Amino acid sequence: MNHKQNIKVPLLDIPLSYKEVLADVERNINEVIKSGYFILGPVVEELEQKIAAYCGAKYAVGVSSGTDALLISLMAAGIKEDDEVITTPFTFFATAGSISRLGAKPVYVDIEPDTFNINPEQIEKNITKKTRAIIPVHLYGQCAGMDSILDLAKKNNLTVIEDAAQAIGSEYKDRKAGSLGDYGCFSFFPTKNLGGFGDGGMVTMDSEKLYEQVKILRVHGSQPKYYHKIIGGNFRLDAIQAAVVLAKLKYLDQWTDKRRENAQTYDRLFKEMGVTDSLTPPREIVPRHVYNQYVIRVKDKRDKLRNFLGENNIATEIYYPLPLHLQDCFLSLGYKKGDLPESEKAADETIALPIFPELTTDQLEYVASTITRFIKK
Ligand SMILES: *Cc1c(COP(=O)(O)O)cnc(C)c1O
Repeated sequence: MNHKQNIKVPLLDIPLSYKEVLADVERNINEVIKSGYFILGPVVEELEQKIAAYCGAKYAVGVSSGTDALLISLMAAGIKEDDEVITTPFTFFATAGSISRLGAKPVYVDIEPDTFNINPEQIEKNITKKTRAIIPVHLYGQCAGMDSILDLAKKNNLTVIEDAAQAIGSEYKDRKAGSLGDYGCFSFFPTKNLGGFGDGGMVTMDSEKLYEQVKILRVHGSQPKYYHKIIGGNFRLDAIQAAVVLAKLKYLDQWTDKRRENAQTYDRLFKEMGVTDSLTPPREIVPRHVYNQYVIRVKDKRDKLRNFLGENNIATEIYYPLPLHLQDCFLSLGYKKGDLPESEKAADETIALPIFPELTTDQLEYVASTITRFIKK
């Protein structure tokens, strides 16, 4: 019997990822408990400074989630009812949900087939008198085509909000995600490359004015305390999450290197096994890709492949099975099937393989050989 039949490959092994950092994390959490300072406070401030420095931004503001990072950035940018915000339909729901929650209208622009990111060439024709902002998403951990996006934004006086929830540490021409647009939005959801023990997020920016504005919005618009010129919300980051993320930040680059190595190993194995006619591995077109996900494209038999991998104890996921312009809640926007063909194709053809840093060589080989077995069957 093939010993590899006993191998199990989860999509992510969160307890395993904590093993290495648990002592640091516990020490940081204990300090928070002893301090009695559970919401915002010195640990959150320390994390803000370290994340800003890590991303090459001047300022950072800790918030309650990646979703709230997007929402508070849109609020600070003054996005309101009937404004239009350009974004991609091939992303996690929060990107567009936060636009709609302010009464504004998401305007969807199709993606590039090779990076899965918003196609900059199709943005301009979607700019109207009502357009106020663009939210490019650095999907799976690879930056969107920021030069063209920033040029268009400058020409048309638009705010650029980077959705970098999957992309901490990724780079665009030697600059880090989060330092490219007016705002950078990060998530510390446990499955992200830098995850906490719960929800959390961060907004980065270079402008001091925007920094002050986001800090005020984070506490219900209160400035000074109990006096409100504007309406904000409770978007505060809690200190225990900050303590966890702070402990893990030291390991982020070494984990990213492991993710990149794993991606290269898959790339090499698929080539060696001769299956690259049947599947397209992800392409690093904009270095540095941080592989929050390693997403391959398989024509026609994606769902059958997924079942086969499941039967062989390999977990996979589909990010995302239905693009946002076709979601029921956005029907009133008037999009129909066929409007954004590359996004729809990607939703039908893509599948994310396990890529987490702790994967062993045996596990990587097992995944690649099981896929090959399916293709050559
Ligand atoms: C995870 C994610 C978010 C939302 O972050 P949360 O912390 O879960 O609220 C937003 N955009 C993208 C692209 C994401 O992957």
